[in-house]
Amino acid sequence: SGPATVMTLPPSTSEVLHVDLGERSYPITIGHALLDDPAIVAAKIPGNRVAVVTNTVVAPLYLEQLCFTLAAAGKKVTQIVLPDGEEEKNWENLMKIFDTLLTEKCDRKTTLIALGGGVIGDMTGFAAAAYMRGVPFVQIPTTLLSQVDSSVGGKTGINHPLGKNMIGAFYQPQAVIADTLTLNTLPDRELAAGLSEVIKYGAIIDVPFFDWIEQNVGKLVARDAAALTYAIRRSCEIKADVVRQDEREGGLRAILNFGHTFGHAIEAGMGYGVWLHGEAVGCGMVMAADLSYRLGFIDEASRSRIAAVVKAAGLPTKAPNLGQARWLELMEVDKKNEGGQIKFILLKPLGTSVIMPVPQDKLLETLAACV
Ligand code: NAD
Ligand code: MG
Repeated sequence: SGPATVMTLPPSTSEVLHVDLGERSYPITIGHALLDDPAIVAAKIPGNRVAVVTNTVVAPLYLEQLCFTLAAAGKKVTQIVLPDGEEEKNWENLMKIFDTLLTEKCDRKTTLIALGGGVIGDMTGFAAAAYMRGVPFVQIPTTLLSQVDSSVGGKTGINHPLGKNMIGAFYQPQAVIADTLTLNTLPDRELAAGLSEVIKYGAIIDVPFFDWIEQNVGKLVARDAAALTYAIRRSCEIKADVVRQDEREGGLRAILNFGHTFGHAIEAGMGYGVWLHGEAVGCGMVMAADLSYRLGFIDEASRSRIAAVVKAAGLPTKAPNLGQARWLELMEVDKKNEGGQIKFILLKPLGTSVIMPVPQDKLLETLAACV
């Protein structure tokens, strides 16, 4: 090889927000080219040993880059590359993580780093909660959905053959590092799926943010870095604020499920994976807005605005025709947490949410109108 050349990389730019959970508080750093910045990547890694958990899709894109940065920060790195996919968020792969950690003699001071989307984040977080009764954990989310949603809030876990996310723990990370550059390789459908949760935050909590999303949805879809950074920051602020008030989902946190009762029914009714979660939630929000309108909680203009912004984000707005009986049956499953009637998260008005059961005739009207 030739003489050493001095490479000038564009500097990383970032902003930090804090999730305020007492002694479990942690920073979320959002910005451009953070994966190249040893000071940011290593800031919250207490010891000199790390294990990076990722998958076969993300590894060829970002693993070498991250390991280079970790080495520059003086860390000894173990790599764990798992197969890709929601169906891989399971017991076998959790055991593979433990197998490698034990074989490599990783001790209680080893930090686990999740490099990937929500599947890797959830599984790695759960591994960190359980390995030697808890080791430090850093999230490096690489999908928009994981940057705005799953990496914030401390829910970790795996799926069981009898139900999604049924085995898990609340476990907060030391830090979340969201590098917006990683979004450039994300497939369009995955980007739109993440935008669905962004729209959700505006709709349930923050009208000015909803207005901003409406005005900037074109830039978001085109992956404008400044627009994405703002959307991620505001989404994380809103989720962090809800989680701060209700860390273990005693009540308030449930509003984050706006659009999800209909969405879960779509996902299950179509067969998991046919619609992405975010696609089902996008359509589910259109349906929940329609139901809110029929109950007199929002005006016609608000209902149309929700549908228009969901559509502009590249998400479906027309529900699949599962048949009325099947729809009702599928939504019944969602009441598992409540042990009673199906409760809906509704807008009353746009920017504020309420959780309540609804009269069956109104629900049937919405089902008829939205398919
Ligand atoms: P995912 O992790 O499956 O990622 C989607 C796809 O994108 C995968 O194929 C992945 O390998 C690929 N990918 C990831 N980063 C990429 C990149 N930068 N470039 C190209 N491809 C990339 O799915 P997701 O949408 O990120 O997360 C969904 C999971 O998150 C579900 O398991 C869900 O249960 C969970 N979740 C958890 C919470 C929580 O609070 N813990 C909240 C929401 C969702
Ligand atoms: Mg969701």
